[in-house]
Amino acid sequence: MAIRYWPKGMPRFLDIPQTTIFDNLVVSARRYPQKIAIHYYGKQLTYAELLSEVEAMAGYLQKKLNVNKGDRVILFMQNSPQFMIAYYAILQVGAVVIPLNPMFTTQELQFFINDSEAKYAFVGQELYTKIAPLVKTTCLEYLVVASYFEYIDQPSSTILPPEVSTPPMSINESFVSLWMKALQFSLKPNQVVMNYKDLAVIPYTSGTTGRAKGCVHTHESVQANITGGSVWARLHSSSVNLSVLPWFHVTGMVFGMHIPIYIGATMVILTRWQRELAAKYIEQFQITHWINISTMVIDFLAYPNRSNYNLSSLQIVAGGGAPLPKVIGEKLKNELGLEYIEGYGLSETMAQSHFNPIDRPKLQCAGLPQFGTDARVIHPDTFEELGPHEEGEIIVHGPQVFQEYWRQPEETKKAFIKLDGKRFFRTGDIGKYDEEGYFFIVDRLKRMINVSGFKVWPTEIEGVLYKHPAIQQVCVIGVSNVRQGEAVKAYIVLHKDAKVTEQEIIDWAKERMAVYKCPRTVEFTEQLPMSASGKILWKVLMERENRQ
Ligand code: AMP
Repeated sequence: MAIRYWPKGMPRFLDIPQTTIFDNLVVSARRYPQKIAIHYYGKQLTYAELLSEVEAMAGYLQKKLNVNKGDRVILFMQNSPQFMIAYYAILQVGAVVIPLNPMFTTQELQFFINDSEAKYAFVGQELYTKIAPLVKTTCLEYLVVASYFEYIDQPSSTILPPEVSTPPMSINESFVSLWMKALQFSLKPNQVVMNYKDLAVIPYTSGTTGRAKGCVHTHESVQANITGGSVWARLHSSSVNLSVLPWFHVTGMVFGMHIPIYIGATMVILTRWQRELAAKYIEQFQITHWINISTMVIDFLAYPNRSNYNLSSLQIVAGGGAPLPKVIGEKLKNELGLEYIEGYGLSETMAQSHFNPIDRPKLQCAGLPQFGTDARVIHPDTFEELGPHEEGEIIVHGPQVFQEYWRQPEETKKAFIKLDGKRFFRTGDIGKYDEEGYFFIVDRLKRMINVSGFKVWPTEIEGVLYKHPAIQQVCVIGVSNVRQGEAVKAYIVLHKDAKVTEQEIIDWAKERMAVYKCPRTVEFTEQLPMSASGKILWKVLMERENRQ
């Protein structure tokens, strides 16, 4: 496919550093030892301090917990200095990061622990009670528990999220180390022989089967998007980044943490999105880059006191994971004079496979394939390659594409096709491109619901709901929602004589799954549309919903 537009002066390919992600921190700490790496609710850490804490935690992991190269270590935390320190410490000892959504319930966590066979986990103390019951009842053996409070020094005027303002608790369990105690050993790790082809991180995603799958990324595939993203989004050492997207997810991880560290920029970390604090910090720290999800932009533009703050330092407002409504992009331009720079990608592509060029972005558009990335549109059944404006499945070949699904060779096989001698990843998204080579997402092949960027897989939700004693049949679909983009709706057929309310079903679900997965609405019905072979026709329900 010929790309007709490409930003002036931008190379088509970039050299990917043949070093590890941890090496990026070492280089920045050498270049800018006294520069502030992190602002966190009033406290700062320089690059030299950041590296020194990473090394102390790596020493603890290696020498006290015996974490070795290739071991998987869970990160079950929210955005915080400790998340970053733990992440880089895990990499320094050659182990593999398993980042998990802090919203997961104990039941959900159990799957990820078993699947990754992780023996160790870093845990935010507010999440401790969810994971503690799984220690020794699964392969999980040991927890390092952190309180974010230890890293703050905030003027009392600021309202902090509860997880940040709660002082450290004392936990007397033989399988727990408290963060500060672990650091106090000040152990230096022995150097581990590492290669950029080694495994670095396994972010989990789901699939049409509803069973979660780990996307295996090496240092190389992550470095591809670190270098690519920094050049494309014009991040440099004097940039100041508002790091507010969750770091357990690929876009937050790459743009909120890895890129700023790679180029030695300053990060202003928010554990949770708070629009007033975001406005205050943009003015106070002269924030230049804000990479976000569309719901944050919608919320920010609706903030009535926004004009009390000087936001003129902002240069780049960009994001992906879900489309930004066109009216919001226009409002951003009219009110703040900024174009929204949308990107597109998946956990399998370590954030961006596509990004809009800053000099000529289009709205509601995935953008151009990234450096060294060949993206095409094919007919999903015949695999025939399609031309401009023809809708089909988007496939991607590039240096950021994952290796395989963790220990799921069959799923890996299904995820790739060969074309022109290259291995292309099948995204499961339906899209098209225009004559300039810009891609647009129009639909999905896969059965997925996008709730504010959080991906929900109906088969997983249905699997849980079927355990409810009153439910005979269930079908979960996505319905459009002004604030979240899409919301989860469950159509339910009850067993004869069963009595249960919509709210009871929602409350029951909340106890068993992360809150973003729970149905927002339930519609009871006498029967669901079925095919001749007995399959529930979820598309019919979607069409019915869209017509309303
Ligand atoms: P995840 O693996 O959680 O990053 O989810 C990837 C999915 O998010 C893609 O397959 C798309 O369906 C969706 N997605 C990502 N970026 C965009 C975008 N800019 N517009 C529409 N959907 C998007």
